[in-house]
Amino acid sequence: MFKLFRFLKQYTLQIIVIVLLIFTQVLANLYLPTLMADIIDKGIVQKDVTQTVSFLGFDGSYKGIDYIIRTGGIMLLISAGGAICSVLSSLLSSRTAVGFGRIIRNKLFAKVESFSLHEFDKLGTATLITRTTNDVTQIQSVTIMIFSIALFAPLTALGGIVMALKEDTSLTWIFAIVIPLLAIIIAATLKYAMPLFKLMQVKIDKLNLVLREGLTGIRVIRAFNRIETEKHRFDNANADLMNNAIKVNKIMAFLMPIMMLIMNVTTIAIIWFGAERIDAGNMQVGSLIAFIQYGMQILFGFLMLSMVFIMVPRAQASAIRINEVLEMESEIVDTEAPVLADKESGYVEFRNVSFKYPGADQPAISNITFSAKPGEVTAIIGGTGSGKSTLVNLIPRFYDVTDGSVLVDGVDVREMSQDSLRAKIGFVPQKTVLFSGTIAENIKYGKDGATIEEIQHAATVSQASDFINEMEKGYEHVIAQGGANISGGQKQRLSIARALVRKPEIYVFDDSFSALDFKTDAKLRAALKDETKEATMLIIAQRVATVMDANRIIVLDDGEIAGMGTHKELLNNCEVYREIVSSQLSEEELS
Ligand code: ADP
Ligand code: MG
Repeated sequence: MFKLFRFLKQYTLQIIVIVLLIFTQVLANLYLPTLMADIIDKGIVQKDVTQTVSFLGFDGSYKGIDYIIRTGGIMLLISAGGAICSVLSSLLSSRTAVGFGRIIRNKLFAKVESFSLHEFDKLGTATLITRTTNDVTQIQSVTIMIFSIALFAPLTALGGIVMALKEDTSLTWIFAIVIPLLAIIIAATLKYAMPLFKLMQVKIDKLNLVLREGLTGIRVIRAFNRIETEKHRFDNANADLMNNAIKVNKIMAFLMPIMMLIMNVTTIAIIWFGAERIDAGNMQVGSLIAFIQYGMQILFGFLMLSMVFIMVPRAQASAIRINEVLEMESEIVDTEAPVLADKESGYVEFRNVSFKYPGADQPAISNITFSAKPGEVTAIIGGTGSGKSTLVNLIPRFYDVTDGSVLVDGVDVREMSQDSLRAKIGFVPQKTVLFSGTIAENIKYGKDGATIEEIQHAATVSQASDFINEMEKGYEHVIAQGGANISGGQKQRLSIARALVRKPEIYVFDDSFSALDFKTDAKLRAALKDETKEATMLIIAQRVATVMDANRIIVLDDGEIAGMGTHKELLNNCEVYREIVSSQLSEEELS
């Protein structure tokens, strides 16, 4: 956890102020009982003796009631000062802690966004969300606590001991008994409570997991009538969390009364033995009262310190989870000296490329060699799981190749900066992703500062303008989270428009026409042809009709190239292609 505190650097000044404020507050608290003792001993008991007072303009010699009023005034001033310090330090420490939380969340988000798909596969989305929210909140609240109690408590306890010694040394043996006793009780409690506290975080994680699955999978849960099962599963996780919390609270419930008992017994002991000393004329009444108050401060300080010991381990668990993300190195990083492609045409070349997903036994694709030229359409066809998506994911460097190399404009993609590489590519992923916002905003996502004309043009080419214009608000129509309020085919066309508005050198369409009817598919491809005359087109498709007139068709089978050529050539020499074709087209379409 303390590793995370490096992010507090920019708050150094605030922290110094907080420390000073707390220090002042502790000093004020420690000074008050002494003044109290003075009022009793000098103002009441020796009310006829003139006493000198010196404190910020209260200076002078007084006796009796005047002395009491003067000293009381000083006490009021000091406690007011202490209160102001307390308010200021709370305010400042909350601000600092909240700012600290914001910094960690930002760092986490930036880190997660820099991850390659490898790291996403490794960690999973659910835990990344919990770590960015819940875990950071844990750290944040413990930080507030450290700022206040962790400093305040030991200072108060130590100061109390010093002041008590100053007041009267002969009664301090009481503390010598009570403090170790307290320490033992706190240690014993922690020993039992600590594992339970750590478990809390794990149980919350589990609850979040079940909740997320229950929410995201709601359609499947309904369709398969699993609502009762899911309820049960949630209830189990929920009850588990509750039981753990009850156990923790049981222990804590014992702690408080025991502490109170010890405090009260201590007070009685101080009064008992103090009374004997007063009786013998060795101690004054005021001193005794001050001594009792210092005793309380000492015990209270220890009590608060025990709270810190409880909170810190719980936050520690969160800190470890956060650090795990922050310290994870992305496997895909820019080289130190990125090469700029001198040509800007969008020539894509695969040289003997193989790729294996981490942990997989078989390579997803192997020995892929081909080139896709500007002004041409290169189509990829093959059964599901044959490695089509994997292949195109290597072009924007979502993954790095295991063997061979992928070149864009003659430069290995690993040598280029990710920004300049991706600027060349208009990528339409297989799984359409839209963001919450208007249609115009979603298309504009492809190009910052795209004008409304450009947006409309892109929508027209992608055959989206018809349905957009039918909408009441047109381009200002708001898309719900994940594009839930438009159809799959409409989503695909918007996703294509988003790539088009970019006017990139390379287009990658990963099965982007699958949700379109044949007529729209044909119209879209005709419009695309004019739009993308100069660009390199890579089109993955399931339908032969979509790829038939491509300049080059690559047939993938089980991660390997089974054939490459035009439709006509492949019909003659590629068995796999013939099978695909005959399963889709009727005889006359073939000729
Ligand atoms: P296609 O797009 O042709 O349907 P993919 O390229 O998506 O096929 O998948 C090819 C193979 O790689 C499949 O066997 C699939 O199980 C595997 N695969 C795909 N994505 C991952 C991943 N993120 N991690 C591990 N294996 C994967
Ligand atoms: Mg795919």
